[in-house]
Amino acid sequence: MTPVILTVALNGSVPTRQQSPHVPLTPEEIASDAVRCRDAGAAIAHVHARDAAGRPTLDPDIFAEIHALITARTDLIVQISTGGRADLDADLRAEPVRRIRPEMASLTTGSMNFPDQVYANSFDTVTILAQAMAAAGTKPEMEIFEAGMIDNALALVDAGLATTPLHFDFVLGNRGSQPATARQLLFLSESIPQSATWTVAGLGRWQLPMGIIAMGMGGHVRVGLEDNLYYRRGERATNEQLVARMARVAAEAERPVATPAEARQLLHLGT
Ligand code: ZN
Repeated sequence: MTPVILTVALNGSVPTRQQSPHVPLTPEEIASDAVRCRDAGAAIAHVHARDAAGRPTLDPDIFAEIHALITARTDLIVQISTGGRADLDADLRAEPVRRIRPEMASLTTGSMNFPDQVYANSFDTVTILAQAMAAAGTKPEMEIFEAGMIDNALALVDAGLATTPLHFDFVLGNRGSQPATARQLLFLSESIPQSATWTVAGLGRWQLPMGIIAMGMGGHVRVGLEDNLYYRRGERATNEQLVARMARVAAEAERPVATPAEARQLLHLGT
């Protein structure tokens, strides 16, 4: 059985301390949580940066501190978010990638709506972000909220801005974009090139069922407080608990949990 790569999306841009006492906000908190999640089975840490007040920021210095602390303490693959919650400006979003040259970064290849914001990613924006990643030797994780975003990712390959095999993350369950259903996941997983790898990120209460389905399909799984604050209804989770639970699901499904070194091979990092 192919090993399963577990990604932990540690903090995101949205969850606050008021919403969960377990959301890591400072670089130190994020790195400490990353260590626990590595021990629980995570191979990739997907990270956002927050300022001193806990608000989302694109400050490259804060991203660099998070990256340095995690890589000093673990062998995790650090995946930097280029999301636009703090600012939609493409150059500001690309700057941490240019500065840090991380192994991976997220790349949303189109526009959609969040419940409280239009998430505008024009072709120009996507191109600037992809150029920064190509120049830095950073592998993009294509964040797919809508099927059409797959075509945009493939267009980046045609333009010489991304190299195959691609890696996709299907983000399912956001209101107003692709719903979190088995049918949608099957459709998306069959809509990417055969050589590509994929992860599913089910939002909120969809995190667990989507992860279980992906486990049986041979896909990879993202969990974490960015996408879901609860272990079960009414009970808040820690990142470590969410990773550990998915590692147990993997064990029952006879899928070995990939170490970061194995994940690097599966994702063709550094090649
Ligand atoms: Zn994110």
